[in-house]
Amino acid sequence: MIYSFEKTDPVKTDFLGVLRQHDVDFELIDHDRSVVRILGSVQNGIGEKLAEVYGGRRRLTVTKEPLDNIYSDFKDRSRISLIAGPCSVESEEQLASIASFIRSKGLRYIRGGAYKPRTSPDSFQGMGMPGLRIISTAAKAAGLKVVSEVMDRSQIDTLVEHADIIQIGSRNMFNYTLLTALGSIDKPVLLKRGMAATVDEWLKAAEYISRGGNNSIILCERGIRTFEPRTRNTLDIAAIHLAKQLSDYPVIADPSHAAGHRDIVIPLAVAAVASGADGIMVEIHPEPDSALSDRDQALSFDRFEKLLQRLDDLHISHK
Ligand code: PEP
Ligand code: MN
Repeated sequence: MIYSFEKTDPVKTDFLGVLRQHDVDFELIDHDRSVVRILGSVQNGIGEKLAEVYGGRRRLTVTKEPLDNIYSDFKDRSRISLIAGPCSVESEEQLASIASFIRSKGLRYIRGGAYKPRTSPDSFQGMGMPGLRIISTAAKAAGLKVVSEVMDRSQIDTLVEHADIIQIGSRNMFNYTLLTALGSIDKPVLLKRGMAATVDEWLKAAEYISRGGNNSIILCERGIRTFEPRTRNTLDIAAIHLAKQLSDYPVIADPSHAAGHRDIVIPLAVAAVASGADGIMVEIHPEPDSALSDRDQALSFDRFEKLLQRLDDLHISHK
């Protein structure tokens, strides 16, 4: 069970008092709100007491639209939202070049991982904090909003400071502690589908966030594992439609991690939009072959322009 409180609500103290008094374990997460996740099963009498105390809490001011209306931008059906940027933040020069390029193309969102979930511990693990500073500085200079991944609860404050949309990666979609924690922030969360998650599991993961009071969730289909080795993953086109049918959240697609190869990214992006995606997130790099992570799927600037041209030819509005 997940409960949500205004941080200064005195009822929160009473509620936690009941839990402590009865030796019930719980997680408490304090960011913009306080979220309490109860562990173990609560005996009947205690459950009633908790419900009684919780019923007296202050009205929560939840789902505040972010001041700059990022979330409504993703919900706007009249155009798709495009997010582009490197898999990993690598240097100031790399980010400056990408930020000015995508700004010149009229994009509003830049992506770039500073904390990277790499399969091998020997691979580049991302720049961490300096990387976040680099992407937020480059984005500010170019007037762009930042999308970046959080891997652990301990990184939330830093991510909130430097990013405008907080990404949960495919490997963490099942990390319920992290999901719960993101319910306590007032920033949009981009929730990638787990690579082996069903649509229902993905939507339940979103519920962990919304229960805490954060309903600004953007779902992202990034491909699932199948038996096909020629692509990195299989973009589940049906899931885009299903997720939209089964929830009110905007649904975007990441054709880069689905394809795994740059020459398959554009057709998958177009297919995703045709099946109703509200946006597309792609990995681009000024020198794709020297990217420190996911180089095979990185689009060059030229190829990214071809994607934009393709969308224009199909009269798909993205500006
Ligand atoms: C990413 O967006 O760089 C990433 C790690 O993606 P995923 O979690 O989908 O593998
Ligand atoms: Mn990547």
